[in-house]
Amino acid sequence: QAEELTYFRGLDAVTLDGHNIILRSNIEIAEEVPIALREGAQGVGLFRTEFLYMKRKCVPSEDEQVEAYREIIESMAPHPVTIRTLDVGGDKLVSDIDLSDEANPAMGLRAIRFSLKEKILFKVQLRAILRASAHGKARILFPMITGVAEIKSCKNLLNEVKRELAEEGHAFDADIEIGIMIETPAAALVTELLAREVDFLSVGTNDLIQYCLAVDRGNEHVAYLYEPLHPAVLRALRMICRAAQQAGVMVGICGEMAADPLYTLVLLGLGFDEWSMNAPFISQVKRIIRQVYRPEAEQLVAELFELGSAPEAARRLAGEMNRRF
Ligand code: PEP
Ligand code: MG
Repeated sequence: QAEELTYFRGLDAVTLDGHNIILRSNIEIAEEVPIALREGAQGVGLFRTEFLYMKRKCVPSEDEQVEAYREIIESMAPHPVTIRTLDVGGDKLVSDIDLSDEANPAMGLRAIRFSLKEKILFKVQLRAILRASAHGKARILFPMITGVAEIKSCKNLLNEVKRELAEEGHAFDADIEIGIMIETPAAALVTELLAREVDFLSVGTNDLIQYCLAVDRGNEHVAYLYEPLHPAVLRALRMICRAAQQAGVMVGICGEMAADPLYTLVLLGLGFDEWSMNAPFISQVKRIIRQVYRPEAEQLVAELFELGSAPEAARRLAGEMNRRF
């Protein structure tokens, strides 16, 4: 079957009724770029930059970051590379960054909260992303957003950095697109407000499920409660997609749910525009997308909403998958 899947690499992810889905790759290190290209990824939908900061003595300098981002941006051109700003804290640790001991790190000084506190570090990263944006198409993605105020703070800093770079004579993409991760229940509830502030949204289901269901994503004792098809999760996803569509903003998904073929029909029916996943999964997902009519997926999603629990939804979905594929 692996051999047969390579057939899909050069094809579009288009449904039988002509609806196009953009499939991009998640990457953590530059070495994954050739795999993304081989698998036919239409750019990088999530570059987790914390890996640049990990396993080393000190945080990477601005120039070092520019080089790292530029290399990836140039290899992926003309496709975009979505660079997520540092998502440190919670379960993600960086040796040179001293995070205070927190009783609840997942709900503590994580991701954008850390960046907005450590503005010097944050500005270095924004400068590096902007400078690299002169070499192709880059997009900026802010993690763990819970409200409009955080986006405004990010945009103010970004504008400050743009002014500084312009004064210093650095080239950069002045219109660089900015997006946010929707991965907290707060963000899901106010997607409509957040969407007005940004160019695109990207749903991080790994965290969204964790926070929505109050289930630590890394805790094996409650792993049985970590259910992507939980009615609450499905409703959160539907709210996000509807709010994004009403605002006319592209909505993507970059959590692990996007990579699992079991959920492909669900995500298609919910209306996600851009899916980003580890590159080796792209062909499997594309193969399914190419064999369905979107209204069928929408109908299936409507049926799943009638069911009261994740296991029931999983059974219904597995039945549908077995019947069709
Ligand atoms: C997510 O939360 O779904 C996500 C893509 O981000 P990360 O897994 O890096 O937290
Ligand atoms: Mg996340």
